Amino acid sequence: MTNDLNLPSGMIEKAPENRKDKRKRTDQPEKPTSGEQEEMDTSAPGILTQLEDNLTQTPSPPSLSPAPKNNQSLPTVSSRLTQNVSITIPRPADQPKLTSPQTKTTEAATSTPNASPWQKSQLSITAQVEAYRKRSALEKYTDAEMPLVQFASPSEPLSNIDIDLVVGWEGLPGGKLLALPFGAYATDLSNHNTLNRLIFGAVIDITKSHSVSVCPPRQCHTSKRAPICFLIYNLAEEHKQALLERCVWSSTNITFQAMSFGLRRPDYLFTIKDLTTMATDDVSAAVHKVWHDEASKAFIDTICNQATEANRSNTRKILEKFVNSMWTTRLDTKKKGNIIAPGYRVYASGEIINDDDTWYRLRDYFASREYKPWLQSPGTNFIPTRACSLCHGIDHPRGLCPFPSVAGWNGPTRREDPPLTDPMGRGSNIVPQGGRNRAKIARFF
Ligand SMILES: [Zn+2]
Repeated sequence: MTNDLNLPSGMIEKAPENRKDKRKRTDQPEKPTSGEQEEMDTSAPGILTQLEDNLTQTPSPPSLSPAPKNNQSLPTVSSRLTQNVSITIPRPADQPKLTSPQTKTTEAATSTPNASPWQKSQLSITAQVEAYRKRSALEKYTDAEMPLVQFASPSEPLSNIDIDLVVGWEGLPGGKLLALPFGAYATDLSNHNTLNRLIFGAVIDITKSHSVSVCPPRQCHTSKRAPICFLIYNLAEEHKQALLERCVWSSTNITFQAMSFGLRRPDYLFTIKDLTTMATDDVSAAVHKVWHDEASKAFIDTICNQATEANRSNTRKILEKFVNSMWTTRLDTKKKGNIIAPGYRVYASGEIINDDDTWYRLRDYFASREYKPWLQSPGTNFIPTRACSLCHGIDHPRGLCPFPSVAGWNGPTRREDPPLTDPMGRGSNIVPQGGRNRAKIARFF
């Protein structure tokens, strides 16, 4: 696939590392360092509600003493927010007891900048309200650890796309990400304008960017299938990282995966079927034994010997690291008659490998080997050719897609779920024209 596309090397970027750790930082971006600030942060939602009530229900706000110098530059609305918010913010334990809201307001407005930690907390309230609003905008998106979508090959996300368009994308300004909408709906070109608007709306929701743009793919003239990869560009670095942190953004309007513009080698390699055991450890041991036998070592030696003298040592370290990263998981598929027929998926960390050719060689070699768990006949290895129609991953059929099981999932679901729980369903401001698209939705989901 990569060879067909002949992607320019300049488009390769390093995939984000350790997404889980980054997510933790993003989930708590405003986490303060002092106990005083923690109390204020958790009270933010109540603050805003009370602010709105006060502003609408009280025609004459209480008279105030002049604001301190460091509040003078704030907008009038922000000053009003500050004075009202002070009513509900938990008071630090070392501060004198306040007897009434009016007293609190007066003290807050008249104290000097160096007066106390209480006064310092007042100065950051605008930022805290803004942070609350940002969090509210993200609440529509599922906030959970998302599985990694495993594509069939490194360049699979760009399949069926006009390569000239990709070259043009490289020259676009700012940070760039690929966006792959979930669902079979994305495989119909007539839906791309709608999806483009939905992705754009979501990106604005998430980043609040004033410069970002989104554009749809263009189908390769030799391809009979539609590409599903949209481009987000002119992104500030912080917005790019924000989109990559959660990776899969799922709302009732749109669900899509944000990917680095540089393509990452998949972890998934192949599946072993026709085994009559549920013991994943036995299968994993069998795979480990083969990957470390003399034949596999000879194969690794062959790749190393083809590297330049200067790179040979480093190449061997990379390949050994890849081999040692192997893991297997069981997929409880069934055959006709509802007979259990587990498949064992074999993975190794694709991001370790630096080039596509080496990744293909490794996958093809290990998929060609025979794996025989203890007391079992050898299994049959295969590489699926049909991707999941929900997430476009290759390591599972749609019926076993892991995403609908994610807590709080808003995106496309399994066949038995109501048809309109899809990207074009509830809450969308963009309604599909006529009943044709709705019929398609019912069929897809
Ligand atoms: Zn899936």
